[in-house]
Amino acid sequence: MLPTDDRLLLGPGPSPVSDRVRVALGAPARSHLDPDMMAILDNVRAQLARVFRAPAGAMTLAVSGTGTSAMEAAIANMVAPGSNLRALAIVTGYFGDRLAQMLTRYGAQVDVLPVEWGKAVDPADVERALGQASYDFVTVVHAETSTGVRNPIDLITPIAHAKGALVIVDAVTSLGAIPLDMAAWGVDVCYSCSQKGLGAPSGLSPIAFAPSALLKRVACRSFYFDLALLSSFWIDRKYHHTISAPLVYALHTALEEVEEETLERRWDRHEATHVQLVMGLDALGMRILPPSSARLWNLNAVEVPAGVNEAAVRAALLTQHQIEIGAGLGPLAGRIWRVGIMGSGATSANVTRLLDALPAAIKTAAHA
Ligand code: PLP
Repeated sequence: MLPTDDRLLLGPGPSPVSDRVRVALGAPARSHLDPDMMAILDNVRAQLARVFRAPAGAMTLAVSGTGTSAMEAAIANMVAPGSNLRALAIVTGYFGDRLAQMLTRYGAQVDVLPVEWGKAVDPADVERALGQASYDFVTVVHAETSTGVRNPIDLITPIAHAKGALVIVDAVTSLGAIPLDMAAWGVDVCYSCSQKGLGAPSGLSPIAFAPSALLKRVACRSFYFDLALLSSFWIDRKYHHTISAPLVYALHTALEEVEEETLERRWDRHEATHVQLVMGLDALGMRILPPSSARLWNLNAVEVPAGVNEAAVRAALLTQHQIEIGAGLGPLAGRIWRVGIMGSGATSANVTRLLDALPAAIKTAAHA
């Protein structure tokens, strides 16, 4: 049986889908090679180039799959077994580690720069690590969803480029929610997802390769993620796979909404809801884990107060208030809740609804 009631999605993703995106999902079907579809895909490529703020000459498209598929496409087109490429993987949490694993699977020699969970990487540490060996790539997660931390991509890319390394950035939780500027920051490869800051359902994942990265592509081991084959579909209209029309419609519409609002106003909206949440939590005696200088606006790592059963609170929020929030991962499991206020869900009314429900849910959990 399909759900008939709404849940307020305030977890680490997916974020709520606007009515307009929901309607777009049901637009009349077109096949993956229909001229209408090709015109929409051309539009989506252009929309993505603008939303990533990609440099001129970049290749932008959306991979069929979730954020992990875009991560895999990024690595699979830049690293190949036997290529002896070296990568410095900055690991500030769960998803930085996933990138390191992906690099290893695709045959890179990987050194990890580990950072304590809950802190952002210090650019001086990146400089030091890059001074100790020569690297082809640096990988880093912009918005580390497992810790609520924002890494300073703008400071890392010049350091990496000065040492001859390209920078691959995971923007799965940042695109459409917090400032990101591929061209200004000099990001070489950047990928994201549809279901967080952009406000579409999951299943199509934006990716952008700057000209600097296109020059260094390897022969891709994966058929599905091969950029050459993907471009032959997106640009030359040759069959590669049967892209999902409803998901294309939804992403296209979500990107329209982003551009109508403008990126700047959207970032401001996410900042405003973050500030409202932090102040409300403060009034309840609750704290956010990362230092204020490194906090994400859209993914809040809220420390679970001592003696509170975090799982019981999440269960009470879900069953009694129809609000979903996320649990902590890895070393932060049981210590934080992950509260995502993003996409069309980043509204003052949603923050108020959560702040009203939280004390009641904590009380219910105490008696569970
Ligand atoms: N990278 C980051 C930073 C994420 O937060 C996530 C998922 O939340 C992923 C990658 C993987 O995305 P997906 O779950 O859509 O495959």
